[in-house]
Amino acid sequence: MQLDWKQICSPTLILDEEIAKANIAAMVQKSARAGVSFRPHFKTHQSAEIGEWFREMGVNKITVSSVGMAEYFVQAGWQDIFIAFPVNLREHQRLNGMAAQVSLAVLLDSEEAMNGLSEKVFHRLSVWIEIDSGNGRSGMPWDNPRDILKLARRISGGGVHHFAGLMGHAGNTYAARGKSEVLAVHEESLEKMRSVRHLLNQEGVEVHGISIGDTPSCSLADDFSGATELRPGNLVFYDLMQQNIGACEEAQIGIALACPVVAKYPERGELILHGGAVHLGKDFLQGSEGKRNFGHLAWPDGIGWSKSEPNCSLISLSQEHGVAKVSPTMMQKVNIGDLLLVLPVHSCLTADLMGEFTSAASMARGTPIHSMRTRIAGYLNEIARK
Ligand code: PLP
Repeated sequence: MQLDWKQICSPTLILDEEIAKANIAAMVQKSARAGVSFRPHFKTHQSAEIGEWFREMGVNKITVSSVGMAEYFVQAGWQDIFIAFPVNLREHQRLNGMAAQVSLAVLLDSEEAMNGLSEKVFHRLSVWIEIDSGNGRSGMPWDNPRDILKLARRISGGGVHHFAGLMGHAGNTYAARGKSEVLAVHEESLEKMRSVRHLLNQEGVEVHGISIGDTPSCSLADDFSGATELRPGNLVFYDLMQQNIGACEEAQIGIALACPVVAKYPERGELILHGGAVHLGKDFLQGSEGKRNFGHLAWPDGIGWSKSEPNCSLISLSQEHGVAKVSPTMMQKVNIGDLLLVLPVHSCLTADLMGEFTSAASMARGTPIHSMRTRIAGYLNEIARK
């Protein structure tokens, strides 16, 4: 099977299905070996169709980051969904609607939020307490066990809702470089989660679960002792940020943005691609001397792309323009009107912005792989046509 590159005329997100399926399979196997459930975060792909690939490999529970995303995946038939974002009480009606149909879990870190939930949501929810085990974003500080205990007692002390356990997200692995640094953050963070559980158990509060899992930890660690479930999301596609951390190889990156070359400046070694911040997002890797890298460049190749070209990268983005600094060899080879592929720095944002995926198989079927974003866009188009 080949991708018909002639059909690609504007920025298009290309998905190498084989790579993505291999990434999913590796995590399915690793979690089975470690004896923990795999509850993948679907915010990376946000696609019912890609969700089916997980289901075919035995996954039956998922994580999402918003109520809207949970509703989309309920419609796609998922029955066990964790909204791993601090609960938004203003969305209580939609939570009630979903909790009446499926097993729904929410996240919070205060009695105030729990009181609001008890007042407003009448169908049973599983409630996780978010623990800040070092990331510093949200959650109760792990070393404040008195307050955690009080909240756990409040959740488990009667009422319709149920105390599911402790949830942590070691997003501080993103500042680590290399396996040993990532493992040090992962182990320290998991140890903190275990110590909170131990304390709650000693005080007679049963903690059913410990939910953890960022992509760097899940990719590099094998030991998840004490955890009951893993929630990585990014690993379905990986990206340059993960490669830079040491969590994947370039060959595991599963999406790339096909961008038409629209201008050439050999005297300054630069190209302009149609592919900017509205397609890729604004995340970058910090290079030496303050240089920014917004993506590596590769050539179209069969159903995917070549290895990235050495010394060629996107150095700045505006809304639609991507400015690429390229090597003299590449400058000689490239023509205006060619397509180049940009390996993204942060695949979650690129996938969210692009909203649909083109693969060799989807092209053969004549329709891209949709996500919740394209479904909304399709709906709006339908309204516009009426
Ligand atoms: N769980 C939570 C609460 C998250 O916020 C995220 C990502 O931000 C994930 C899991 C998935 O982590 P990753 O993006 O490293 O796969």
